Amino acid sequence: MNPVAKTIKQYLDAFLLTELVRGLLLTGRHLFERKITVQYPDEKTPQSPRFKGLHALRRYPNGEERCIACKLCEAVCPACCITIESEQRPDGTRRTTRYDIDLFKCIYCGFCEEACPVDAIVLTRIFEFHYEKRGDEVIAKEQLLTIGDRNEKQIAADRAADAPYR
Ligand code: SF4
Ligand code: SF4
Repeated sequence: MNPVAKTIKQYLDAFLLTELVRGLLLTGRHLFERKITVQYPDEKTPQSPRFKGLHALRRYPNGEERCIACKLCEAVCPACCITIESEQRPDGTRRTTRYDIDLFKCIYCGFCEEACPVDAIVLTRIFEFHYEKRGDEVIAKEQLLTIGDRNEKQIAADRAADAPYR
């Protein structure tokens, strides 16, 4: 478009408010469409089986801890937020005596979950949690096992749904 025609078009656009009309038409087109705003917390968006929320430690159906204290999760964690101490039991198996995760440091990448050879440490769908005092952000083994026990059904279902893609 030559400069004169361009200037005339700009004047006409400004005089006829074409951009404003175009904007209003766009707004009008969306006025009667289905609303996508979610009224949280009354409504929640769907979650993927791969959702990475609060951590949990799992047990086998007989109640035995899955974790064998191999420390792969501790080694792979890019945020260095897992601390494990372990000991050998009289039967020769190894189990953790301490399993802490500093949730302030955690970046919820899920590497610990991927590295675990026995599906012991997992990230659950829980995303609504808070801390009330200093130190609460370090979550200990007993808490992790309790979260696992309470949510085992959902965790097992999510792991099964995700299995073909792993
Ligand atoms: S989710 Fe990532 S950052 Fe958090 S504990 Fe696991 S490996 Fe570390
Ligand atoms: S949670 Fe898994 S990766 Fe971490 S120490 Fe236990 S068995 Fe090893």
